[in-house]
Amino acid sequence: MTRLERDTARRKEVWGSSRSGWSGGAVVADNANVKRIETTSSHVEDVPPPSAPRLSLRFVLVRTSHPGNIGAAARAIRTMGFTRLVLVAPHEFPHPETTALAVGATDVLDNVVVVPTLVEAIADCTLILGCTARRRGVALQELNPRDAARQAFAASAGSEIAIVFGNERTGLENDELKLCHAAVHIPSDPTFSSLNLAQAVQVLAYELRLASLEAQAPAADVPAKSDPPASAEQMEYFFSHLAQTLDDIDFHKGRSPRTIMQRLRRLFLRTHMDEREVRILRGLFDDAQRMARMAKERET
Ligand code: SAH
Repeated sequence: MTRLERDTARRKEVWGSSRSGWSGGAVVADNANVKRIETTSSHVEDVPPPSAPRLSLRFVLVRTSHPGNIGAAARAIRTMGFTRLVLVAPHEFPHPETTALAVGATDVLDNVVVVPTLVEAIADCTLILGCTARRRGVALQELNPRDAARQAFAASAGSEIAIVFGNERTGLENDELKLCHAAVHIPSDPTFSSLNLAQAVQVLAYELRLASLEAQAPAADVPAKSDPPASAEQMEYFFSHLAQTLDDIDFHKGRSPRTIMQRLRRLFLRTHMDEREVRILRGLFDDAQRMARMAKERET
């Protein structure tokens, strides 16, 4: 019996015919070959920063040839706070090179799940993103890693998400890509587009980490907005006050007020100011106008 067959047999043993073991608990390795099932409470979660929204996400490596790449990929996802790695029919696993290149990401390696087909790896997933170094003849929406990460975060709570990577030489087969909801392409140089597998994993893990930090940013560094947003009418008063102030302080000095106002409109509209922010800035304009008046009075 090959190692893969042993893994498969063991998995059947612990999962039975039901798939619930996958989402309700994790199949984890006691040692490299023997798998047991853990209860939900000790389920190994992805660990984006402690208060970040949790993504139930797995990285899936399909038919990986080089054991070192598996280790490097484990390290890549662990540095970004993720832990779940699924291997579809790896050529060699476990392997000393995998352990060496994981450089201590042992929690990822200890919890690796090995399955024989991509279909099994993603059976319970609701969003599957396949990473490709080049365009394939499959009509799939194509995303860059940033948009893919945002889409993963936009997926509804309870979604199981898979990010899938192909074999080092052949990439993902068309039949495998067809199982994906979208293709993710790292916009590399078209004349040299293929990244090392673990580096591609790193890029995706990094973007997912960034998206996770972004998702928690409002609570962290932008005070929650309690004031109502400024209405279009309030913004128009704001802009005419701004235009008048720029005149009063002689800001234009012969340049076209129209061009600068267009730019300032674009700038302020982009920020979606609330009523209080408009009041603060208009207070500032009032003061600037008052100072300009005083200066003029001193001149005369
Ligand atoms: N020769 C293969 C490249 C395989 S590289 C091909 O042309 O498809 C191994 C895996 O790394 C790929 O299957 C893909 O999942 C990922 N990868 C490498 N470069 C990538 C890129 N520019 N964009 C997205 N994924 C990439």
